[in-house]
Amino acid sequence: MSLILAVGATVVGLATVGGCVAVPGGGAIPVAATTAPSTTTERRTVSPLEEPTGTVTAPSPAPSPTATSPTVTVTSIPPPSPTTTPAPKPTTTKATPKPTATPKPTPKPAPRPTATPKPPSTAPQTPVTGSTVSGCGNPNPGKVLLTFDDGGPKAGAVLAVLDRYNIKARWFPTGQWAGANGAFIQRLIADGQMLGNHSYSHPQMYASLGRTELARQVDQGYHPTKVFRFPYGASDATSRSIVTSRGDSICGWSIDTYDWRGNSVDTITQIVISQARPGAVVLMHLSFQTDVDALPRIIDNLRGRGLI
Ligand SMILES: [Zn+2]
Repeated sequence: MSLILAVGATVVGLATVGGCVAVPGGGAIPVAATTAPSTTTERRTVSPLEEPTGTVTAPSPAPSPTATSPTVTVTSIPPPSPTTTPAPKPTTTKATPKPTATPKPTPKPAPRPTATPKPPSTAPQTPVTGSTVSGCGNPNPGKVLLTFDDGGPKAGAVLAVLDRYNIKARWFPTGQWAGANGAFIQRLIADGQMLGNHSYSHPQMYASLGRTELARQVDQGYHPTKVFRFPYGASDATSRSIVTSRGDSICGWSIDTYDWRGNSVDTITQIVISQARPGAVVLMHLSFQTDVDALPRIIDNLRGRGLI
């Protein structure tokens, strides 16, 4: 177990303690803590409140300065060494079984220092199982499933990357966004991409919303594929029963990129490749260029490990 993973677990723990929900009007609403487990990535769908309401008109709400969980711990994952000198690398030396004789020949002249050198082989290969991911309809549980939520201006760019690598992901547009972007949805279907229901308008789906409204959120979402993901991962027994009563499975995630917090491309990349293992489900969105830029590196890494 490397330090990278330990930091990743910390990040998840922080997020479950409290979150910050971006709202279309700007700003953010602090959200109360949930009872989700804090030490494992196997979070229930009840837990983290992770994402902004991505719409076409208000695509990328900036991470709020009032967020209760600052990104400090996230950005501290890879202590960047200014050059590619082999000596420092504090995050990886612990997990390295023995120092390699060759001083890591990095042919690239001046790559971003944190990006490539992390040894992904230290990541655990124990498959991810459990209800968090089992409802996601991953066609190959031995692989990592990428998922993209909401809707947003980067949808086309994300699809272009996936097509370049011939990867089928699962997309969770809101019903609102799907309705306004029917041509793109048809393109996804024609492309062989998988879809899911992410409610109609992305509320926190608790009983306080009322059964009628909860049912409307499910029924007016994009639902042909019968896979449902709660907005923000926020649910309770009432909302879950409404979803399952319609024959939908509930899909959570095991790897949260926290892209909405403004995580850098490097951080997003590191979060995914350090936590990736068979059956993992990655949460990303359609509003952030950082995701678009991280995807090729993530996919290259996972493909090299047979995980995608
Ligand atoms: Zn969402």
